Amino acid sequence: MIKINKDFWTKINNSNLTQNVKQDKLNGSVFDYQSLNIDQDPSQQRENIIKELEKGNYSALFNLNWHNVEGTADMLYILQEYKNRNGVSLYNKFLQDYNNGIATESELQNNIKNLLEMTHFKPDKKFKANDNDKAWDAYWVCADIIRHGYDLNFEDHTNFDFDFYFDNVVTPGVNKFIEDAINNKKKAEEYKKKAIELLDYDVKNSPIKDKLPQITNEKTEANTTIQTFNGKKYTIIEQNDKLIVKDDNNEYEIDFEKLLVNAENENDKERVKEIIKTLSAPVLIDLSLEIDSINITHKSKEGVRGEYDNINNTLTIVLKDDEPIENYTKFIAHEIGHAVDASLKENGYNNFNSAFNKEFLQIANRELEQLKNKPLWESQYATYGPEEMFAECYALLMTGSSGCSNFVIANYFPETLEYVERIIEEQRSLPIEERCYGGERSIKIDSWRID
Ligand SMILES: [Zn+2]
Repeated sequence: MIKINKDFWTKINNSNLTQNVKQDKLNGSVFDYQSLNIDQDPSQQRENIIKELEKGNYSALFNLNWHNVEGTADMLYILQEYKNRNGVSLYNKFLQDYNNGIATESELQNNIKNLLEMTHFKPDKKFKANDNDKAWDAYWVCADIIRHGYDLNFEDHTNFDFDFYFDNVVTPGVNKFIEDAINNKKKAEEYKKKAIELLDYDVKNSPIKDKLPQITNEKTEANTTIQTFNGKKYTIIEQNDKLIVKDDNNEYEIDFEKLLVNAENENDKERVKEIIKTLSAPVLIDLSLEIDSINITHKSKEGVRGEYDNINNTLTIVLKDDEPIENYTKFIAHEIGHAVDASLKENGYNNFNSAFNKEFLQIANRELEQLKNKPLWESQYATYGPEEMFAECYALLMTGSSGCSNFVIANYFPETLEYVERIIEEQRSLPIEERCYGGERSIKIDSWRID
């Protein structure tokens, strides 16, 4: 749907394309305008649309239906052609029209948001470039648009180069999405099957088998276990509503009464306690230092077992009735990995260190390169962004399995894994008061939830 003005729509609507619009309305397509591009000769439609755009001297703003790849691609090209023909910056053009009251700011944002969502852009989608300020700006504007939707204040981004962003982020992103979608469609069944097969990848016989934790447990008393984790000794003591973990230097307490204060019933609470008890000693220590409270829910997106909120320092566990307790271990470790990642002081504020740590990004980016020409199904969850890479590596190092990225980490990211191991070790060697500074002590610059 183009919201430029009513006249424009009326003209298009009365054109020879009307039949198609009707058709798409019948089919329940979300929006009107992009439907014009389906099933008819796209080049001709482009001509018509561009002609109209130029006559009205409009700023081209589109509200796209991202479920329709063909229509979306066409819209993108229209926008590009308009830009090229008129030799103007879309951004300047937009602002000019905006000031004249022709367009509205929210329309532009809505359109960009749709484009980004179409490419599944998330604030942590791409490993970031370190040496390109424009790419960096573009990245953060995208992140802001996604997170704040229509409320983005463009004045916060006065140096933002809209054209750079359009040419380097939106266009390639959309093109890649379309390419993937077409390839995927062709091979959907085969891809899906292979991706599922990869979830059972045998990491114990993989190139990173030496990185898997060596854990032994010895029960010395009814409520006491001596655990060795990679040769280091811990004592785990179960008390009524507490878990005490001791290492050589300190004693750490997990107080379930406090952590699970929001639990709605005893059954939920007991299940979560059992889940927590499956975690190894170092993960329990991280939990005791990094997480302020645990929420329990029974509803969530497909496949999600946990969520971490870095501002409230909250772990949410999604309980599924038919899910065995031990299935949760790696997923909950993954979330605690996010908490560890968020507690580093690198940038002077609480955010995911992995997204800012240049060395980490450099290593991960380099290894990511090798995935470029590989089939889609080889990219597992860890490649979604630096935060997820960190959390998946953490889970792998701490439990012997990442949530669902064993194959990709073992075959493509051995150095990243090793680097995460080093970060974790360094962090654990810090004095406790330096290490944990989430929750109320964090500066509330931002908030987004992480799966
Ligand atoms: Zn995650």
